[in-house]
Amino acid sequence: MKIGYDLDWTLTTWKTPPWNFASQLIDRRDWIGEPPSEYGLHVFSPQTREVLIQLFNSDFYMNQCPVPRFYSQNLLTQQHVAGNRQFIITARAAHIRPGTISLVNRFFPEVEDVLFVDPGHSKASTIDGLGLDVWVDDDPNELARAGAAGLPTIIAEAPWNETNWPHARRASDCLQIAMYLDKLKEDLLYYGKIQS
Ligand SMILES: [Mg+2]
Repeated sequence: MKIGYDLDWTLTTWKTPPWNFASQLIDRRDWIGEPPSEYGLHVFSPQTREVLIQLFNSDFYMNQCPVPRFYSQNLLTQQHVAGNRQFIITARAAHIRPGTISLVNRFFPEVEDVLFVDPGHSKASTIDGLGLDVWVDDDPNELARAGAAGLPTIIAEAPWNETNWPHARRASDCLQIAMYLDKLKEDLLYYGKIQS
């Protein structure tokens, strides 16, 4: 079975959200108002953006700020041992892709490949191109697109995806994602949709 995961808020969480970190360094104050709706660096001032790009590619930042969600590392190890192929698709500006690859290699060495889309762009064509059997994400829009194309989907529950995508299984943590993936694989094997 080929499993595709989103990265941020699906497999990782942020001890310090990047926008807070950058704004504290530059402005000495927290982000005021709503957090940015996506990770496009254009939402920051040029000075903050410059610091943020450097931070993303620093060992300090990648070691200190993003952390694996509960059970996410066990999840990927378990699915790897079960013979499944695993991919991550994440939205990243070009400048911060090298740091992201380091992070994935450190936390999730079982992942076969990490693929990038530009921030604000849909992952749909990348998901299609990989021929995935299931898509796991916290973004309800990506889940709706994947589900509409006939792909089984699992929502990593978060406050921003309370609006239900009716065909997705809702997982409160990565332990539950693992349980859903195991059940899905049983079904796909039973109905002859996958061979292994
Ligand atoms: Mg996400």
